[in-house]
Amino acid sequence: MTKKFVIGHKNPDTDSVVSAIVFSKYLKNGSIPAIAGELNRETRFVLDFLKGKKPKILKKAPVNSQFYLVDHGGLEQSIPGINSEDILGVVDHHQMFGLTTVEPLFYRTEVLGSTSTLLAKMFKEKGRKIDKKSAGLLLSGIISDTLNFTSKTTTTEDKKIAKELVIISGINIKELAQKMFDAKSDISGMSIREIVLSDYKEYKHLGKKIGIGVFETVSTTPFKEKDEKILKVLGDIKKESKADFVFFGLIDILKKETFFYLLSDKEDGICKKAFGVSGKNVVVLKGITSRKKQLVPYIFKSI
Ligand code: MN
Ligand code: MN
Repeated sequence: MTKKFVIGHKNPDTDSVVSAIVFSKYLKNGSIPAIAGELNRETRFVLDFLKGKKPKILKKAPVNSQFYLVDHGGLEQSIPGINSEDILGVVDHHQMFGLTTVEPLFYRTEVLGSTSTLLAKMFKEKGRKIDKKSAGLLLSGIISDTLNFTSKTTTTEDKKIAKELVIISGINIKELAQKMFDAKSDISGMSIREIVLSDYKEYKHLGKKIGIGVFETVSTTPFKEKDEKILKVLGDIKKESKADFVFFGLIDILKKETFFYLLSDKEDGICKKAFGVSGKNVVVLKGITSRKKQLVPYIFKSI
């Protein structure tokens, strides 16, 4: 028998996990929420705090399975083994990377701060109530992706929907955001490799393979004197993944800036073109906190 799964992107973040849980509820068709890898610390905190059930981890597509994709719209960010004919629907808020399908499918994407916002909107459009737990989960997804409404990706709709979710869930946003950011920033016991790969995405553009990892934190102090190690790890990843360019952005959520690691002259060249900043090993990009909106488009244009 064919099983239906709802799944977010690889290296799952909070928005992709809660979206899988809530979209499976929305669908009411027996689809199973799943995640494409282990939970990060922020999401683990969110599920503990809201008593949400951890979705099943799928490392690759099981035989006879079909998928709804959330928080990503193409196969490059999906688990291996999914074919485009296995996709039943997509709910997303990213740029599109070219998904071709054999049959028509449900495809919903909007310029919003999070997939969670879009899902809340979809419930409302259908006149359906969002239960208390789902409201808390969606609120966490919005806070996570918009960095508590400070990211350039934030829209007025995100703020409006969040207010409604606060009423349903009874959650204090400030308190929840603080706890999520603390959990997100906790790197105790993590290797540099784990940190660099924890939110790493691969893209293809004009025949080039580009890897961009980011790590969001409220304090970059624990990263002092770790530049060399970070660059070494980036070099390893570039070799292993046969990428043409690899980047790592250490994002200071509070100062709203990104320490951008440049492995070689090739990456430096792209950075110079894209952001007008050049340097050896690491540069600071002021005002930049969003990979999707402030890094990817400019890097692509510079290739
Ligand atoms: Mn995501
Ligand atoms: Mn998202």
